Amino acid sequence: MSKSITELFGELVFDEDTMEQRLPKDTFRELQKTMKEGRSLNIKIANAVANAMKDWALEHGATHYTHWFQPMTGVTAEKHDGFINVNGKGKVILEFSGKELIKGEPDASSFPNGGLRATFEARGYTAWDPTSYAFIKNNVLCIPTAFCSYSGHALDKKTPLLRSMEAVNKQALRILKLFGNETVKSVKTTVGPEQEYFLVDKKFYEQRKDLIYTGRTLFGAPSPKGQEMEDHYFGTIKSRVQEFMNDLNNELWKLGILAKTEHNEVAPAQHELAPIFTTTNIATDHNQLTMELIQRIAKKHDLVALLHEKPFEGINGSGKHNNWSLSTDTGINLLEPGETPHENAQFLLFLCAVLKAADEHQDLLRLSVATAGNDHRLGANEAPPAIISVFLGDELTEILEAIENDQPYDGKEKEIMKVGAHVLPKFAKDATDRNRTSPFAFTGNKFEFRMLGSSASIAGCNIVLNTAIADELKQFADVLEKAPDFTSALHALIQGTIKEHKQIIFNGNGYDESWVEEAQKRGLLNLKTTPDALPYFIKENNIELFKRHHVLDEEEVTSRYEIMMEEYVKVLNIEALTMVDMAKKEILPAVSLYSKRLAETCLMKEKLVSQQQCYEKETLEKMTQLLNKAYQALTHLESILETSKTINDFEQLAFFYRDNLILAMNDLREPCDELETMTAQDIWPFPTYGKLLFGI
Ligand code: ADP
Ligand code: MG
Repeated sequence: MSKSITELFGELVFDEDTMEQRLPKDTFRELQKTMKEGRSLNIKIANAVANAMKDWALEHGATHYTHWFQPMTGVTAEKHDGFINVNGKGKVILEFSGKELIKGEPDASSFPNGGLRATFEARGYTAWDPTSYAFIKNNVLCIPTAFCSYSGHALDKKTPLLRSMEAVNKQALRILKLFGNETVKSVKTTVGPEQEYFLVDKKFYEQRKDLIYTGRTLFGAPSPKGQEMEDHYFGTIKSRVQEFMNDLNNELWKLGILAKTEHNEVAPAQHELAPIFTTTNIATDHNQLTMELIQRIAKKHDLVALLHEKPFEGINGSGKHNNWSLSTDTGINLLEPGETPHENAQFLLFLCAVLKAADEHQDLLRLSVATAGNDHRLGANEAPPAIISVFLGDELTEILEAIENDQPYDGKEKEIMKVGAHVLPKFAKDATDRNRTSPFAFTGNKFEFRMLGSSASIAGCNIVLNTAIADELKQFADVLEKAPDFTSALHALIQGTIKEHKQIIFNGNGYDESWVEEAQKRGLLNLKTTPDALPYFIKENNIELFKRHHVLDEEEVTSRYEIMMEEYVKVLNIEALTMVDMAKKEILPAVSLYSKRLAETCLMKEKLVSQQQCYEKETLEKMTQLLNKAYQALTHLESILETSKTINDFEQLAFFYRDNLILAMNDLREPCDELETMTAQDIWPFPTYGKLLFGI
C-alpha cells in the first residue's frame, strides 16, 4: 500500500524530529542551541551528529555522502564520497566523522570564481549550514553547505544570501525595538518562489541540437496554433503530465519540500509549481532541488523539462515569481497591515523601506535578474518590463497620498491619516493582486518580485532585496533612535519617504508603450539588456552598500560581475555555434535536397504535360532565393564569430555580441524559419513547434 502524504513528508530529511529521536538529549539540545545562535559546532557534538546521521542515512539506502553547495554556475554541485572505509583486516567499515560533516574541501579552481582564484588561494572549503537540514537524494546523503575560499571569500550563492539575511535581521530588530517590541529574538525573510517550466516529449527533444545544447529553440516557425485561444491556462492537465506531477510531488514531499500548487500556464506545454513559503535560505535550497527534480522526474516519464526563460519564439517564456516578506520568530508577518494604529504604523514603516529600496536600487534589482536568457522576456510584453516600479494598488496608494499631504483619506470616514494614531482603512486584499504586469507588486501581505527568469537561482535577487531593505531600515533606525519624540519623527519619516520615492509607484499597465515614456519622464532606469545592467554592479555606491552590511566585499562584487558578464558571452557564443552547426549540417542540406526533388519533378513534368503554372518551379524559385539569403546570413554569422576571437576583453565582447551577434543570429533564423514552412515534412531535419508544443 502506498504511504499517506503525512507519512511521506520529510521521509528523506534529517529534520528536527529525526534529530530528536536519534540524538542523545544533551547533544540534541546543544545542536539546537548552536543552530539558533549561528555558532560553529564543537567537534564532540559534530561527531555524535555525524554518527547518527550516517546510521539514519544507511537505513534509508544511502551509500555515499556529499557536501551539497551552490557555486556561481547557478546549479548545485556535489562530489560523492562513500561511507566505506577499510578496517585493516581486509573488511570494510562504514564511517562518517564530525569533521567530514562540518567541513569539506572541494577543489575550487574549476568553478567560476571571477578572478578570486588569481589573487587568492585556489583551494576552497564547504561548511555545513545547519539551518538547512541534510537530506537523501539518489542514495546520497546531502549536507547543505556554504562554499568559501580559504581567504574567506564567498565562492557561492549561499554565503552572501545568509549574510544578507543576517543584515535584515539586525536592522529589523532595531526597528521593532523602537516600537517597543522586546520579545522578538529574530526576524527572517521568507520566500515562496512560483516556478514555471515547459514539458516536451523526449523523443522530439533528442532530435533538436538547439534544445540539447542551449535549452531553447534557435530555429522554428510558429505552429498553426499557439496560445491565442487562451485554452491552456488553468486548463485540464493531460494525464501523462498529471502522472509526472504526481510523481514529482511525492519526491518533493519526501525531501520536505512544501509543493502546493500546480497548474497549466499560458503557453501550450507550459506549467507552474508553487510551494508554501519558508525561510529564504531553505526556500533557495528547495527551489534548486525542485528544478533538479522537475528535470529528473520528467525523464522518467519520457519527457524533458525546459527551464529556459524563452524556449520558444512567439509564445510566452517562463519566469519565476519571488514572493518575499519578513517574519518574526514570534510568527508575525511584518508586511501585514494589522488591526491597530500601532501595528499600522509599523507596517507603514516597513512598506516605506521597501519603496525606498526599490527606488534607490533599481539598478541592483534589475541586474539581479540579468541573463542572456531573461533578456528575451523582460520588456517583451509577456513579462514585466525591464523598468523597475512598484505596484501598490489604488487604495493603498491613495492612503499614502493622504498621509503625504496631510489630507483626509476618502475612505469610509473622512479622516486625516496620522501615523500611529489612526487605524488604516481596510483595503481589499484582492484589489492588490490583479496587476500581472508589474515587476514588483504588493499583494496584501508580501511583495512579489516578478522579473526572475525561470532557470535563475533565487539567491541573487534575494541577496539584493535583503541588502537594500536592510540598508533602508538602518537609515530609518539611525534617525528614529535619536529622535526626541518618536511618534512625530516617525510620522515625518514616513511622510518624507513617500514624498521622495512615490515616483517608483506605478499601478497602470506595465506592458503599455506609454509606460516606457512615462518612466523616462520620471527618470526611472530602463536597462534593456544584460550588458546594460551589469556594469551598475561595480559602481562605487553599490560596492559600498554591500560592504556596509558585510554581504559582499569589493573583490566579491567585482568577481561576481565578471562571472555574470562572462556567462552572458558564453551563452551567446554557444547559441551562435549551435545555429551555425544546425544551419550547415541540417537545414541547408535538407532544403537543397528538397530543391532537387522539386527540380527533378519539374523537369519530368515539363516533358509530359503542358502547363501554364508550375508549382514545383515557383516554389523552387522562392526557395532558392531564401536558401541564398540563409547562406549569406550564415557566412555573416561565421565572420562575426571569427571577429569575436580577436576581442579579449570580456566587457567589450559582451557589448559586441549584444550589438552584432544577436542581430546576425536573427538574420539567419528568419529565412530558415520561412524555408521550414515550404519544405516537405519528411525532409525537414528536426521536429517542428507543432510537435514540441502539442506532441505530448
Ligand atoms: P498567487 O500569487 O498565485 O495569487 P498566493 O498569493 O497564494 O498565490 O501565493 C503565491 C506564493 O506566495 C506561494 O508560494 C506562497 O507560499 C507565497 N507566500 C504567501 N505568503 C508569503 C509570505 N508571507 N512570504 C513569502 N511568501 C509568501
Ligand atoms: Mg503570484
